[in-house]
Amino acid sequence: MVQHRCPDTRWSWVEINKGALRRNTRAFKSLLEPGVRMMAVVKADAYGHGAVECAKVMHAAGADQFAVATVAEGLALREAGIEWPILILSEPPMECVQTLVEHDIMPSVYTQEFALAYGECAAAFGKVGKYHLALETGMTRIGVDWRHAVEFRRGIDFHRGLACAGTFTHFATADVPGDWTFALQYRRFTEAVSAMREASIDCGLVHCDNTPATILYPETHLDMCRVGVGLYGMQPAESTRPRISLEPVMSVRARVTRVVYPAVGTGVSYGQTYSVGRQNTQIATIPVGYADGLSRSLSDKMDVLVHGTRCKQVGHICMDQCMFAVNVDPRRAVRPMDEVSYGDLVTVMGADGEERITAEELADIRETINYEVTCNFGARLEKVYV
Ligand SMILES: *Cc1c(COP(=O)(O)O)cnc(C)c1O
Repeated sequence: MVQHRCPDTRWSWVEINKGALRRNTRAFKSLLEPGVRMMAVVKADAYGHGAVECAKVMHAAGADQFAVATVAEGLALREAGIEWPILILSEPPMECVQTLVEHDIMPSVYTQEFALAYGECAAAFGKVGKYHLALETGMTRIGVDWRHAVEFRRGIDFHRGLACAGTFTHFATADVPGDWTFALQYRRFTEAVSAMREASIDCGLVHCDNTPATILYPETHLDMCRVGVGLYGMQPAESTRPRISLEPVMSVRARVTRVVYPAVGTGVSYGQTYSVGRQNTQIATIPVGYADGLSRSLSDKMDVLVHGTRCKQVGHICMDQCMFAVNVDPRRAVRPMDEVSYGDLVTVMGADGEERITAEELADIRETINYEVTCNFGARLEKVYV
């Protein structure tokens, strides 16, 4: 019997399996040739899994560097005592250059104005501001146009306060094997890097691979891979599933806070979209709602696991709570459920016995991707590391 640690203050929590995180990190590390570095992407609080705790586990399992999306995310890691290299995956506002310099957090760079302001600030502190140059190769999101890389670097390289620690781009279609856009982006990227090298420009660590590219295209690993979603045990696409085995890291659990046997016809929740259809139906409540990342669009469409069995979630999901139905009618053709009691363990995402609800299952119902599902659960629920 698995023991479930539960927070004292609320009967719902995110459970993070550190062993699975460690094994996933090692699995990615083993895809890389010796000397190729791994940058673990811990943006959005490690896709909802808790950036500080995850970074420590990942580092112990082979991650060399860390990537975040915002200055605040970088600061949170530094304030927790994490001293490994940290890269922000876009160029932050110029107003924060001093924070970056003081805390040794590397920005991505793609405007001359930002680069020079950052260099000035670093020089004023007697430091050198390390940065990674972002190149636009076809994602149409951020970066210096790949055709202008040499020109851009010439426009900033005179500054003694700047040092290029890396050059990168990001793929739009790495999850589609043999994709034409992927090949085009990779060619543009490597051409830009070659042009800079021919001009004797130091590119630092050259990197372009996200999770799917790391799995599907070993020839594009270059100096470093930026691995995100896969470390958390999620497949970025069906195409990568046969290539690497990963274990989900996040589960979402709750305990039943109330159970009733309403009369037939009794409505449940706002708008009363569900009403009890037969006798001997239990309606149980758990303290997980859409403010906890259980999207309201899942209402009346998702299942939860109780005693290793699927039960239908019923009624609109509220901000902080939701309900599910348990049919305990002994005359039902299918196996009747055991009665559910106050305090019973409920699995909203994760495994219970033989059954499992995956982030992909919830994502499909919501018409989104697994990435968004775990990010959302990370927002308010307390995290328990097991
Ligand atoms: C989010 C992100 C990654 C990681 O992507 P995954 O698909 O989660 O591996 C890598 N690089 C950049 C620039 C990103 O924004």
